Amino acid sequence: MTYYPRLQLYIGGHWRDTASCEPVINPADETTIGDVPLADDVDLADALEAAAIGFATWSRTAPAARAQIMLRAASLMRQRIEEIALAITLEHGKPLEQARLEVIRGCEFIEWDAAEGQRTYGRVIPSGPGIRYIVLHQPIGTVAAFSPWNFPMSQPCRKIAGALGAGCSIIIKASEETPAGALHIARAFHDAGLPPGVLNLVFGVPARVSEFLIPREQVRLVAFTGSTAVGKRLTELAARHMKPVLMELGGHAPVIVCDDFDPAAAAEMSAVRKMRNAGQVCTSPTRFFVHQDVFNAFSKAFVERTRAMKVGNGLHADTNVGPLANQRRVGALEGLVADASAKGGRLLTGGDRLGNRGYFFAPTVFAELPDDARAMREEPFGPLAIINPVASLEEAVEKANALPFGLAAYGFTHSARNVDYLADCIEAGNLSINTLEASVAETPFGGVKESGYGREGGAEGILNYTIVKTVSHRMA
Ligand code: NAD
Repeated sequence: MTYYPRLQLYIGGHWRDTASCEPVINPADETTIGDVPLADDVDLADALEAAAIGFATWSRTAPAARAQIMLRAASLMRQRIEEIALAITLEHGKPLEQARLEVIRGCEFIEWDAAEGQRTYGRVIPSGPGIRYIVLHQPIGTVAAFSPWNFPMSQPCRKIAGALGAGCSIIIKASEETPAGALHIARAFHDAGLPPGVLNLVFGVPARVSEFLIPREQVRLVAFTGSTAVGKRLTELAARHMKPVLMELGGHAPVIVCDDFDPAAAAEMSAVRKMRNAGQVCTSPTRFFVHQDVFNAFSKAFVERTRAMKVGNGLHADTNVGPLANQRRVGALEGLVADASAKGGRLLTGGDRLGNRGYFFAPTVFAELPDDARAMREEPFGPLAIINPVASLEEAVEKANALPFGLAAYGFTHSARNVDYLADCIEAGNLSINTLEASVAETPFGGVKESGYGREGGAEGILNYTIVKTVSHRMA
């Protein structure tokens, strides 16, 4: 029998059931694998009360002692990697190997911010005699965080890491569709000896939870990862109560392939990265702008590599691409494909749902898709790539910047001049050259334009979870 954990809320250091639940569906076979408890107003009020107690304790715990608990929790998650990865594959569908990598990535976020929390240095400002100006970074308070379903483990880890590293308490509402990743994080912190109330995990009706928590005086920061539409709604709500926000929203990543780079090598890397997590990644490389001289070679290699991928149940060792995580994505992909065909795009491979049980969708590639096709403007958030020819780097950059998004962007080139031009002109929070890795724990990650506000990771990320306090001290 495959193991999936019993789902509960975690409030004030205690596990809690609720009167109301909803089913968790395995996207590979559409069976129910668990029941996720939904918090009501009493649960949420209790979480706030617990988080106030947690903040009082944690914010006055020495950073080195906080780091020890965080590192112990990460170590427990590393030890439990098989159990956690299995739960992620069951609830999300991704291949087991990708789930394992996600667990490791989540641990890296915790480990990084455990260390960064010991380096939130302030400064002493040069001053005249008799007065001293000191700048402190202090934990902001209780954080209300909302994490999505595409990375059930690493996404909640990002926010928990920043909050706990800085000395904050957090109430995190993780995804109801993929709740086990966050549950395992809470278990690890509980077992690592985290004081009660520092980390509180809830599930619920998303709008009800955000509308309850965000206006509360005690909540001092709103951190969200998800769609731009929901991000705007939560930002508006936060603004009404003058709360800062950390918003990691949608993207529609361009990839610029220059004529000096081996097209087959670029295509190999790109196809594999595109189909990772079945394309349900905010940094997923999607709009390929390929120099016309290497366009045919790139497209051919990309399609060959894509066709070689095995779509199937993530539990099977030979699966490269799992099902989509939910039925909404199947409908969304079908709509984008129909529109792309109608607008005259050339379908090179895929295009259909596979079978009628489980949310499987064939890895899909379109070429020469007009700019007014929906898939050129809306983030597919699925296994759909678009390859269009361009005559110059300048044209590619203009097309790359044409959308209101700016999260990740990629380039393939060996020319220092091209790299310099891309670094200057691309409108994105993260630009990667000759690699499709958009972010690691030690680099700041986030968007510009409608892709969001603020950064996670790096030295910058933890500062979102702090306030700056200036102390002016006149002596005698
Ligand atoms: P959605 O906009 O309905 O939900 C996105 C996330 O926000 C979900 O986790 C959901 O639970 C949460 N949410 C929705 N309404 C909320 C509210 N009022 N308060 C608090 N949380 C709320 O979309 P969806 O169908 O789940 O996903 C579709 C789109 O979302 C994708 O196309 C993609 O663009 C975006 N998305 C982005 C990321 C990311 O990593 N940036 C992750 C998941 C989804």
